Amino acid sequence: MKILNLPLARSRVDRAEHLRSDPIALEALWERARVLHFDGEKFLTTATDGVRGLRYLKNFEAPDNGEEFFLGLDGNQPYFLFMSAQIAGEEENYKTLREIGGLLDDLQIGLAVHSQGLGNWHRKHPRCSSCGAPTAAALGGSIRECSQCAVQHYPRTDPAIIVLVKDSHDRILLGRQKVWPEHRFSTFAGFVETGESFEQCVSREVAEEAGVLVSDVRYLGSQPWPFPASLMIAFEATILDPENARPDGEEIEEIRWFDRDSIIEEIQVGELLLPPKISVARAMIQSWYDLVPLADGSARPTFESIETPHTLESWRK
Ligand SMILES: [Zn+2]
Repeated sequence: MKILNLPLARSRVDRAEHLRSDPIALEALWERARVLHFDGEKFLTTATDGVRGLRYLKNFEAPDNGEEFFLGLDGNQPYFLFMSAQIAGEEENYKTLREIGGLLDDLQIGLAVHSQGLGNWHRKHPRCSSCGAPTAAALGGSIRECSQCAVQHYPRTDPAIIVLVKDSHDRILLGRQKVWPEHRFSTFAGFVETGESFEQCVSREVAEEAGVLVSDVRYLGSQPWPFPASLMIAFEATILDPENARPDGEEIEEIRWFDRDSIIEEIQVGELLLPPKISVARAMIQSWYDLVPLADGSARPTFESIETPHTLESWRK
């Protein structure tokens, strides 16, 4: 089984869970930590040479009125997230994960994806869902604990499937949601419902959105998608009656089949805008495209190297 190499699933950070319950060890780690700064939406970044990475603060540089959360170790180096309002005068250096995700190395993408998901969750769970009393971060920020009933609350992750639908001629089916940027088509996706398996969810979503039944569902990999709390579980599936595929007309307004020639042609003339580079959908489509070399045996180009009427910026949307 070939597992996809997915852009947001490259973390190399050791989460060092055993240290979370040791406040003395955490205090010592905080003293020599590299600290990411996150305002709840954007990260503080470097601005040198136009190449943006995360900028690390020392613990004493962290502003007032915030909270720190332990992210883990890279070798002997501890990393923390500090969440508070933006640092005055640095406003233009704060960027979203969507803006900088494609530029970060394996260490930084792991830190940023963990921080984004954890930060979102802390911000939205100031109160206990059992009794309504205030909660506070505990165990290095890996949980929140109720000040009244002492219930421990764990960060929530919402599983969602995403599926590359193919036919027996190795064409792929992409759909278009009304709310997307013009010309955007992508793979089918949806949240796993209560009591449902991943495979059942794949079948249901494709039936709902494209009106056809899938067979031969195969796992391709997974990546966190912390916008705000998803985990994308990727599959490919085959349908035997491609002529019966229809958009549902509600969520999906249009569907189209592509082979390797037509997908390039449509990109070149500006009729097809693929999903952004950090998405699972883009990785699945690129992986399918790369599988068959060009007629002269050479490797296929990456999608972002193709000339298009859209600006390069549009690849990131
Ligand atoms: Zn409570």
